[in-house]
Formats: sequence, structure tokens, C-alpha cells
Amino acid sequence: MKLKFNLIVSTLMLSLILSSCGQVMITGRKQILLYSQGDITSLSNQAYTELKTKAKPTDNAKYNKMVNDVGVRLTGAVSKYCRQNGWESALEGLNWKFEVFKDEAVNAFCLPNGNIVFYEGIMKITNTPDLVAVVMGHEIAHALAKHGNERMSQEVLVGAVGQAVSSYIGTENQKTQAVFGLAYGLGSQLGVLLPYSRKHEYEADRLGLIIMAMAGYDINVAPKFWETMSSTGSKQPEFISTHPSDENRIQYIKSVLPEAAKFSGTDFSK
Ligand SMILES: [Zn+2]
Repeated sequence: MKLKFNLIVSTLMLSLILSSCGQVMITGRKQILLYSQGDITSLSNQAYTELKTKAKPTDNAKYNKMVNDVGVRLTGAVSKYCRQNGWESALEGLNWKFEVFKDEAVNAFCLPNGNIVFYEGIMKITNTPDLVAVVMGHEIAHALAKHGNERMSQEVLVGAVGQAVSSYIGTENQKTQAVFGLAYGLGSQLGVLLPYSRKHEYEADRLGLIIMAMAGYDINVAPKFWETMSSTGSKQPEFISTHPSDENRIQYIKSVLPEAAKFSGTDFSK
């Protein structure tokens, strides 16, 4: 009986996983995506609407122009590349929008619906188009690589395993824990506030540099930028705490520069 149950659960899980395989653009890494992009986009739209009720737009015209110019150029370049190279699926459900919020927080992100937000606090550090492109390229990469969907899917798989186990041996408490895991994954603002895993960060670094290169930005400013960010003193701004740039990460960024540079021959932004 126990064996049979386990077999059914494993078979169900396996078929679920096999039917929901995705692939990350350019890196080719296989990933499990249990959510439709439609669901992700509508959840992101809700998160964005909520965010907007609390946020004020900046009145710094220079910040607005710089973020908008870099955004148009980066997303234009990568979109064109995706369409020309069979990665259209990466663009699905992303409607690019670029904004600067009047807020001293040192932070920036891209929601998995294409809403890109920079705070005034980070604009004091990313004070050239190349530096804005370092941060924005990285954040766009998280969205294109569907890291939010992947992480939510991982939460669900953990939750599903937990539920299967607890429904067999289980106590109410174990079931509650499994459901909590599920709800936490769904309710945690789609990867905006929670740090991504190290694997996702490295992948976003690599893809971010490639996207910068596609749009004709200077990728060589990146290692120095992350080094400077990591040495900004004791009080950790939000962006640094979710993007700790230790020596390994800087080394990794340096090691992928030559690959990224190969994408700079063609200006996809035109
Ligand atoms: Zn990141």
C-alpha cells in the first residue's frame, strides 16, 4: 500500500515536472516552470498596483531621462536578439516600463511583468548610463530568465512533497506547514524582496553583461561597480544585502566578460 502510494505520487510529480520544463535564453539551462506566464504577469500587475499606491515618482528629470534612455536601449536590443534567435518565449508577458521613485532607498528591480523601478537612492551611485545599464541589465536578466516563476515553482514542489508525505503519515500540523510553504512562495512579492539564490544571481550577472554588450554599453565598468557597491560601509542598503558581491562573485563577473564581449559586435538597439 505504502509502496503503491509512493509510486503514484512519484509518477504524478515526474509527469508534472516533465511537462513544465523551460530553458533559459542563451545559457540553455533547463528549469521547471509550473506557472503560466499569464499568471505571473497578473500577479506582478497586482504587486505593482499595490506598490504604486505607496510610491511617488521622482521629480528629477535627469534621473528619469537616464533610466528611460538606458531602458529603451537595453530592452530594445535584447528583444530584437530574442526575436532573431528563437528565444521569443523569454519575452512573453513582459511589457517594459521604466520609472524612478522618489525614495532614498538604494534599490532597483524588475518585476516579472517588465516593470522596472529605480529608487533615487541608487541613482546617486549609478550616475552614468553605463552604470545604470549594469544594474538594469542584471535585473532584466532575472525577468527574462523567469527566475521568479522558477523559485515559486520550487516552493510549490517542496510544498507538494510535504503535502503528499503529510497526507500519508501526517498530522494536521505537518499539513499546515506544507501549505504555509506554498502560501509563502506565492505571497512573497514574486521575488522582489526575497533575495534570489546564488545560482540565479550568477546567471543574472552573466546574462546582464551580455544584454549590456548587445546594447553597446561598456561592460568593463561592471567588476569595479560591484566592488564599490560591496564596500559602501557598515549599513547595508537593500540592493547590496540581496546582491552581496564577495570575491567569488567579482571573479565570476570578470570570467564572463569575454563571452559577453562577443555580443557587442552588433548593435541590436538599432
Ligand atoms: Zn539579482
